Amino acid sequence: MRQFSVGIIGATGMVGQRFATLLENHPWFHVTALAASARSAGKTYEEAVGDHWLIKAPMPESMKSMVIFNAEKDVEKVIDLVDFVFCAVNMPKDATKALEELYAKQECPVISNNSANRLVPDVPMIIPEINADHAEIIPVQRKRLGTKRGFIAVKSNCSLQSYVPAIQPLMDLHVTKVLACTYQAISGAGKTFETFPQILDNVIPYIGGEEGKSENEPMKIWGHIENGQIVNAVEPNITSQCLRVPVSDGHTAAVFATFEKPVSMEEIIERWESYKGAPQELKLPSAPKQFLHYFHQEDRPQTRLDRNLENGMAVSIGRLRPDSQYTIKFVCLSHNTLRGAAGGAVLLAELLAAKGYLD
Ligand code: NAP
Repeated sequence: MRQFSVGIIGATGMVGQRFATLLENHPWFHVTALAASARSAGKTYEEAVGDHWLIKAPMPESMKSMVIFNAEKDVEKVIDLVDFVFCAVNMPKDATKALEELYAKQECPVISNNSANRLVPDVPMIIPEINADHAEIIPVQRKRLGTKRGFIAVKSNCSLQSYVPAIQPLMDLHVTKVLACTYQAISGAGKTFETFPQILDNVIPYIGGEEGKSENEPMKIWGHIENGQIVNAVEPNITSQCLRVPVSDGHTAAVFATFEKPVSMEEIIERWESYKGAPQELKLPSAPKQFLHYFHQEDRPQTRLDRNLENGMAVSIGRLRPDSQYTIKFVCLSHNTLRGAAGGAVLLAELLAAKGYLD
C-alpha cells in the first residue's frame, strides 16, 4: 500500500486526540498537519492542548512541537501538506458543512466525524463492515462538487455503533421493528469526570439530537444506491431513548428486535460470531479480527471490562434471549471514541485507500 500524508482538523479536541494517538504508528497514514480554531492556531500542539490531554496514551512525541494551523484560514497551507484530512470539530452545523466542502472542493478528501454532511444523499455514511459498497457514490459527489479527487465521506453517530452491527447479520430474517435504549459515556460529550462532575451519582435522560440520529442514520446505512443517490431503507422501524450515564468511555445499548423468519438463539449467536465484512476480507490495519463477540456470561458485556476489545474496534454482545413482545432482546456495547469516532474513521479511510478512492 502507498503511504499517505494526513491532516487532523480538530486535533486539540477529544476525538482529535484519539486520531493523534491512533495515527502515531499507522502503517499507511502519517500526520503532517494539525489544525484547530483560532484559539489554538500558531501554538504548538503541546501548548494548545495544555493540561486538556484527555486520554490515557500520551501525546505522540512526533506531534508535540507541530504548530497548529487555523482550519478555516490556512486551508491552502494544510492542503499543500496532506493527501487527505480527518475532521472532528465542534462548530455550528452550517460552518462545519462549509468547512468540509471547502477542503473537498480544493481536491482534499475529507473523512469526517461530524454530523453536518451525514444526511446529504451523495455523501456516503459508512460502517466499513456493513455498507462498504456505498463508497461507489463518490464519483457522483465529485461531479456535484466539480472535483477530480476531493469528496466527503462520513462515519455515523457513535450511539448506533453497537446495535446496527448487531442487527446487520439478522437483516435477511426481515427485521421489522427495533427498540434501542442507549446508556452513553461522557466522553461522547467531549467530557471527563473532572470536567463534568454533575454526572457523578447521576443519570441524565437527555442528549440533544441523539434520538433522531439513532433512529434515522441506520436507515441510510441500510439504504442502497439508486439514480445517483443513496436511497434510505424503509425497515426496520427504529425507536430509541438515549441517556447519559456516569461512564468514562463505552456506549451500551439495550435492544429489542422483531423479525419475521424463525431462527434459534444458537443460530443468532453463530451468525454474530461468524460475521465478516470488507475490513476483515481486505485485512485492513485497524480491522478487528472478529467484528462481533458474544459473551455467554450473564453479566457481560460491561463497559470497564469489554470496551477495549480488539483495540476498541469490536462490538460486544450478551444477554440474548426471546422476548414476550418482540422476537428477541439483548445488550451490546461499543467504544464511542474508538469504534464510534476516531477508530471508525481511520478504518473508513483504510477502506477508501484500499479501494483507490484516496489516490
Ligand atoms: P471537542 O473535544 O469539543 O473538540 C472540538 C475541536 O473542534 C477542537 O479541536 C476545537 O479546536 C475545534 N474547533 C472548534 N471550533 C473550530 C473552528 N472554528 N475551526 C476549527 N476548529 C474548531 O469535541 P469532540 O468530542 O472531539 O467532537 C468533535 C466532533 O466529533 C463533533 O462533531 C462530535 O459530534 C463528533 N463526535 C464525537 C464523538 C465522541 O465520542 N466524542 C463521537 C462521534 C462523533 P480548539 O481547541 O482550537 O477550540
